[in-house]
Amino acid sequence: RRKRLAQLKEEPAETKDGHQVELVANIGTPNDVAGALDKGAEGIGLYRSEFLYMDRDSLPTEKEQFEAYKEVAEKMDGPIVIRTLDIGGDKELSYLDLPEEMNPFLGYRAIRICLDKTDIFKTQLRAILKASAYGQVKIMYPMISAVEQLRAANQILEEVKSDLSKEGIEFDQDLEVGMMIEVPAAAMTADILAKETDFFSIGTNDLIQYTTATDRMNENIAHLYQPFHPALLRLIKRVVKAAHNEGNWAGMCGEMAGDKRLTPFLLGIGLDEFSMSAVTIPEVKDAIRNLTLEEAEKIADEAIGYSTAEEIENYLSQQV
Ligand code: PEP
Ligand code: MG
Repeated sequence: RRKRLAQLKEEPAETKDGHQVELVANIGTPNDVAGALDKGAEGIGLYRSEFLYMDRDSLPTEKEQFEAYKEVAEKMDGPIVIRTLDIGGDKELSYLDLPEEMNPFLGYRAIRICLDKTDIFKTQLRAILKASAYGQVKIMYPMISAVEQLRAANQILEEVKSDLSKEGIEFDQDLEVGMMIEVPAAAMTADILAKETDFFSIGTNDLIQYTTATDRMNENIAHLYQPFHPALLRLIKRVVKAAHNEGNWAGMCGEMAGDKRLTPFLLGIGLDEFSMSAVTIPEVKDAIRNLTLEEAEKIADEAIGYSTAEEIENYLSQQV
């Protein structure tokens, strides 16, 4: 079976009846690109840029960041979604002196920090834009919970673009800008957000946490952290629909994208891009290639009709 999966590397991620999706990888550093390519990733759906900022004593310079982003852009012949700094929550930076908080996951993190410390954000956006001259780079904002944040981030992005233009520095003028959907408020307003973005990527790790009010790090309540909760399936479905209504694409970069039991559901609701840790790419591709779109749609309809996470999980587990 391992051998059969390995042979899939060069095959497209398409259903028996020819419906194609994009199978891409999550990475943390440029060194991860080789492993992603080895498993057949067609691009990078989530480059967690925060690793550039961690385990050091000071902020990474624009040049350091540019070099890392450019390296990924040059190594990967496909789309590369670079997520802007997603620090806070469980990820600390010693040199930033972030406040101690009662509820770090509900606190000062990710885009909230970037919209406050705009110098840090601008430096990163400059580095990403410069790297966009070397490959299919896209920008993605984490933890957006309201359209005003999206507008504020885009306004800063426009300022940075205009600075670069004045300086005569090249970048991709048509670079796509998207956002993660990982907060229920964003999922519920996806129709509004879709009008001002090019794409969504659903961050289920946080979306499960915030939807079920279950700290993703707390072992005592791990049983309540339920990917198969009907609320999650419903939210995900409406997010994809909202994106499509505006002619946008929708992806997923949380762990749910790499769980092959969910592949028929995600295919069936029309997810366009599946981004996961490279190791799960072959088995998800295998699952996609063994279904027709119509079969996937039927499974998705049935799954979403159950009342409990257990029923949904049991039903979907029987389909693989
Ligand atoms: C997510 O929340 O699903 C996600 C992909 O982001 P992270 O796991 O880095 O928080
Ligand atoms: Mg997240």
